[in-house]
Amino acid sequence: MSAVMITRKVTRKWEKLPGKNTFCCDGRVMMARQKGVFYLTLFLIVGTCSLFFAFECPYLAVHLSPAIPVFAVLLFVFVMAMLLRTSFSDPGVLPRALPEEANFIEMEIEAANGNVLAGQRPPPRIKNVQINNQIVKLKYCYTCKIFRPPRASHCSVCDNCVDRFDHHCPWVGNCVGKRNYRYFYLFTLSLSLLTIYIFAFDIVHVVLRSVDSGFVLVCFFTLWSVVGLTGFHTYLISLNQTTNEDIKGSWSGKNRVQNPYSHRNFIKNCCEVLCGPTFPSVLDRRGVMLEDSSNSTPDASAASVIKSSSSASAPMKSLSPPTSNGQPLEKAKPTSEAGTQKSASSPKEEKSFAPKSPNAVAPAVIKESAH
Ligand SMILES: [Zn+2]
Ligand SMILES: [Zn+2]
Repeated sequence: MSAVMITRKVTRKWEKLPGKNTFCCDGRVMMARQKGVFYLTLFLIVGTCSLFFAFECPYLAVHLSPAIPVFAVLLFVFVMAMLLRTSFSDPGVLPRALPEEANFIEMEIEAANGNVLAGQRPPPRIKNVQINNQIVKLKYCYTCKIFRPPRASHCSVCDNCVDRFDHHCPWVGNCVGKRNYRYFYLFTLSLSLLTIYIFAFDIVHVVLRSVDSGFVLVCFFTLWSVVGLTGFHTYLISLNQTTNEDIKGSWSGKNRVQNPYSHRNFIKNCCEVLCGPTFPSVLDRRGVMLEDSSNSTPDASAASVIKSSSSASAPMKSLSPPTSNGQPLEKAKPTSEAGTQKSASSPKEEKSFAPKSPNAVAPAVIKESAH
């Protein structure tokens, strides 16, 4: 006779998340898998600033002003803080549908499409929603098994759908999306200022000491690329547009679709993108899950031994089966986009609306806050 020992193992939700992200510090830090270019970014910034601090700042501090190195240090710290904030945070990854949610969505789509004859191409999986009097298409993601919310896109590098997807940036080693875009922009902006600052005082140093410096050339080329990138993102922010939408020409006027998110006002668009509400992560990466693993032991006396290795404080919700998503999407909805997200077919909501709206392709009318 053998007894079955059930061991309850505590795991964090980040350990079970699908996709190609990597995590460290027990789920606190989240990045893409390829980090080589990110290390190069760190090396270039730290290397350039170290050369400036070591060879030029001592002379400039004595002969011009001690404020020069102090301001450079402050700017350098700000640049690094913004870079790490962009690189180590959740860009706005959307949880994948649970198997039962995915089945329900499939059923809903089949019911809406009717019988497709053999050999016939099934219609594209698209939902139409109306946002500020513009029809916006929501596309179905075959990997995440959800209808993507407006502006979301699937990142092929991270293998996840990201809300308000801008682009995947290898320089910061992460996707740039809804939750880290403003930090990314502040990083490029402050890096531009730092490069201009170092370049300017480099020239001053060369003129004052009448020495040659190859450093000036390096700064000059860096300056153009970084300032150009900042200028491009300033242009996008002024239109309340993402890089992804700009590349695809989503709001270029074809099909008479204008950008429904733009306030048609530079200041308002900048305020919304840079000073709007921040969004909590919907992944609940550090949430606790309990997993039962049973193994047989040749013990005749005990029928079953239940051993729990978890702490007693584990929350009840953690007893749910391993899932990719933690807290419900609703939690992360900003007030201004609540309506948008509602029809953006969060898998959980699809389920909750199930009996009422069997027609998956019926256009939903969404009103955003008035501009
Ligand atoms: Zn996806
Ligand atoms: Zn990515």
